Amino acid sequence: MKFSKFGEKLTSESGILELMDDLGKALASPEKKIMLGGGNPAHIPEVEKIYREVMENILKTPGRFEKIIGNYSSPEGDLEFIKGFAKLVKENFGWEVSEKNICILGGSQTTFFFLFNLLAGKYADGSFKKILLPIVPEYIGYEDQGLEQDYFVSFKPKFNIIDEHTFKYQIDFDSISAVILNDNEGSLANASGSNKLRDSSPTAQNGSDNIAAICVSRPTNPTGNVVTDEEVEKLIKISEEANIPLIIDSAYGLPFPNMLYTDAKPYWNKNIINVFSFSKIGLPGVRTSVVLANEEIIKALAAINAIVSLAPSNLGQHLILDLLKGNKILNISNKTIKPFYQKRSEELVKYFHSVADPSLPYYLHKSEGAFFFWLWCKDLPIDSYELYKRLKAKGVIVVPGNYFFPGVKKQWKHKKECLRISYCQDINVVKEGFKIIAETVKEAYLQR
Ligand code: PLP
Repeated sequence: MKFSKFGEKLTSESGILELMDDLGKALASPEKKIMLGGGNPAHIPEVEKIYREVMENILKTPGRFEKIIGNYSSPEGDLEFIKGFAKLVKENFGWEVSEKNICILGGSQTTFFFLFNLLAGKYADGSFKKILLPIVPEYIGYEDQGLEQDYFVSFKPKFNIIDEHTFKYQIDFDSISAVILNDNEGSLANASGSNKLRDSSPTAQNGSDNIAAICVSRPTNPTGNVVTDEEVEKLIKISEEANIPLIIDSAYGLPFPNMLYTDAKPYWNKNIINVFSFSKIGLPGVRTSVVLANEEIIKALAAINAIVSLAPSNLGQHLILDLLKGNKILNISNKTIKPFYQKRSEELVKYFHSVADPSLPYYLHKSEGAFFFWLWCKDLPIDSYELYKRLKAKGVIVVPGNYFFPGVKKQWKHKKECLRISYCQDINVVKEGFKIIAETVKEAYLQR
C-alpha cells in the first residue's frame, strides 16, 4: 500500500526501529538475558508503594476516580495540577510562572515531536530551519522526529580526559558561536579556548537564520553527562542573541526525578522551553510530561494537542497532584530516587573498573546523572554494532553507541567505539553483565 509523505517518513525503516525489533526478538527468546539496553527506570519498592497509596486514596474518595476517568481535561491539562506545578517551581526555584506558562502532554517523546515540528522544518517564506544540538551523543529518540529529512545540526563535543579510564564531554562553543552568531572570530569561543576536535557539520554553515532552536538533554541520555551551569548559561546567552528558544530536556533532571549526582542548577526564563517527564520517577506507563515555556509556545502546544489528541491523560496528573502538596514529590525524588541511583552508580563504576583490564584504553563517561553508563573503547578493532552482536550472543543486551549521534553524517570513528549500558536492573544482574562486557571488550582488543 502506498502511504503519504508523512506516512512514508514515519513508517520507513529507521535504524532505531530495526534495533528495537532486534532487541525485542532477543528478549522473546527462551534463553536468559541480561537486559542492560532499555530506557525503563528501576522499580523502587518504596516509591511504588507511595503511588499505590495515592491511587487507593483516589479510589476511596467518592466520585474522584469517576471524575478522572470520565472527563476530558482542557487541551493544556488539568488546571488544578497546572496551578500546583506552577506553585512548586515558583516556591522552590523562584521562577515567575503562572498557569499560562504550563501545559501537560502525553510524555516528552510526544512533546518533542510537537516542538521540533512546530519550530523546525519548512517556513512560509521558503526557508528551512533546523534544531541545533550543541553536543552529541544525544538522546536517540530525537533522531526520527522531524517530518522532513535532516532536522538536526549537531556539534561534536570536546573531550575532557579526567583520568586513565574516565572522561567527560564538553560543549564546543567555538564551533557553535562561529555558526550561530555568524561570529567567525568567536567571541564566546574565547571563553572555551581552542579545540582540536572542532568539526561543525557542513549543514551548520548557514548561520543563525537557519536554526529554529537549540536543544539539549540535561542530564543526558545516553552518556550520564550533565551540561554544567556555565555551559547552560552560555547556551542561554547564545540563544537570546540569536533570538531562538533554548529547549532543555529535563527528563532526568530537577524538580523530579532529580537524578543529578553533581552540582547543577535548574534554569528557566521566557526564552527557555523546559520539558519535564513523569517517566523516570517511576511512571513511564502513565505517559505524562509537563512543559514550562512562554505563553505563545504553550498556546501553540495546546492547540496541536487539541488536534492530535483532544486532551492529555488525567491519571498521571492526579497521581502526582496529591504529591505536589507539601513538596512531597521533591522529597521522594531527593530522598529516595536520587540516592537509589547515585549509590548504584558509585558502586557500579568501581565494580566495572575492578573487572575491566586496566591496560586497555577504555573510558567510562563520568557518571553525573540519569541511569546509564557510556563506555568508550578507544581504537577498538571492531565497531560497536559488532560488539553489540557479540554481547547479544552471550545473553547481554546493550545499545550500540552509533545510534546516539543525531545530525552527525560525517564518518567519525568515535561514533562506533561506544556502548550505552543501563544500570536499572537488579544490581547483581548488572554486575554479571559488566563482567561479560569487560571480557568481550578485552577479546576484541586482543584480536588486533
Ligand atoms: N528525553 C530523554 C532524554 C529520554 O531519555 C526519554 C526517554 O527515555 C524521553 C525524553 C522520552 O520520555 P517520555 O516520553 O517517557 O517522557
